[in-house]
Amino acid sequence: MATWPRLAKRGPDQSGGQTALALWVGEARVAGVNDDFPVSPPRAWAEIDLAALRWNLAVAREACGLALMAVVKAGAYGHGLEEIARALAMEDLAFFGVANVREARQIRQAGVTARIYLLGPTWAGEREEIVARDWTPCLSSLEEAREFNRLAAVRGVRLKVHLAVDTGMGRGGFVAEGLPEVLAGLEQLECLEIEGIGSHLPSADEDEAFTRRQMACFAEIIDALGGAGRFRWRHLSNSAGILGYETGGCNLARPGLMLYGVSPLPGFQPQLRTVMTLKSRVTLVRTLPAGHGVSYGRAFVTTRPTRVATVGIGYGDGYPRCVSGHGAEVWIQGHHLPILGRVTMDQIMVDVTACPEVAEGAEVELFGPNLPVEEVAKAAQTIVWEIFTGITPRVQRCYRTAG
Ligand SMILES: *Cc1c(COP(=O)(O)O)cnc(C)c1O
Repeated sequence: MATWPRLAKRGPDQSGGQTALALWVGEARVAGVNDDFPVSPPRAWAEIDLAALRWNLAVAREACGLALMAVVKAGAYGHGLEEIARALAMEDLAFFGVANVREARQIRQAGVTARIYLLGPTWAGEREEIVARDWTPCLSSLEEAREFNRLAAVRGVRLKVHLAVDTGMGRGGFVAEGLPEVLAGLEQLECLEIEGIGSHLPSADEDEAFTRRQMACFAEIIDALGGAGRFRWRHLSNSAGILGYETGGCNLARPGLMLYGVSPLPGFQPQLRTVMTLKSRVTLVRTLPAGHGVSYGRAFVTTRPTRVATVGIGYGDGYPRCVSGHGAEVWIQGHHLPILGRVTMDQIMVDVTACPEVAEGAEVELFGPNLPVEEVAKAAQTIVWEIFTGITPRVQRCYRTAG
């Protein structure tokens, strides 16, 4: 691992010289315990490379040539919403895209003043705050629109809103049929300004023919509603759309996953840089005899004397339990090594028979530059989005700020 130049070491390095973690920005001290005592290095932590994040943002910009809404919902895909929003605050983004008002508030609490867009339909309890803080909703129904209009009128403001159009996702927005009438209806609402139109791609990483038809359909809808000049913002593409397709007619794109270093279309993966590296540490190494069970249910039983390392991470940290028995590996000191038996809440066991040098304290990479997170997702029979957002608060996020 490289050393990170901008940050000074705090206190003694308790890592056995195997990590530069003390050089990362994390929780510095245990408040009220002893102001001079640095916290113990965590059992499990995520190193988050903000320079790589900005690199990936530049790739998104380059790939589509459009203005960008950085999608930072779900705690910036588990990377830490406030830190990621702050890291991107100077990047000239048109919007930050969030799922709900709590996330919008967190961006403001981080001191970031960029515009905020709510990616899905809102419910009644959220709308007053959205209007009061001038966040931007997308509309899926006339009832929702009327309610926003009423709340804006009460405050004497005009709220910018986007028209959400359902071109195939089936999750929100107005269906194409009858849209001109819908728009005419919306235009009667004097306290709303229809500044944008957006739609979403359900299968840009799975079904190219459908996605191309969908893109054509979105362009036709915009034409039918008065053309590109009618809407300040026109947006359709997620990461897969940005990387794999030309989106004629749009002037805004909504990258999520690719910012965090993973391409939904594997061919573009080499262009992106790893942002999150999930790490833990060996807490114990023993040799178990042949015929010894490992972990709950004894789903794995040794067939030979086996050097087993216990590692301080488990499903309580968001490392998925369901990788058990599906060939999941970890990376330790240059070796890919198999997980033995079931993932437990706080610990996993790894076969280190092949690596006599692995000892207590050794750093373990669960995913990162040496072990793509896609591999973990595959073993867990899920998608990378879920792996990232499943990393729990127990995992300390540590940020590398310099390039
Ligand atoms: C989550 C989301 C995105 C980002 O998708 P990625 O595949 O992660 O790039 C874009 N648009 C909408 C509406 C979303 O909900």
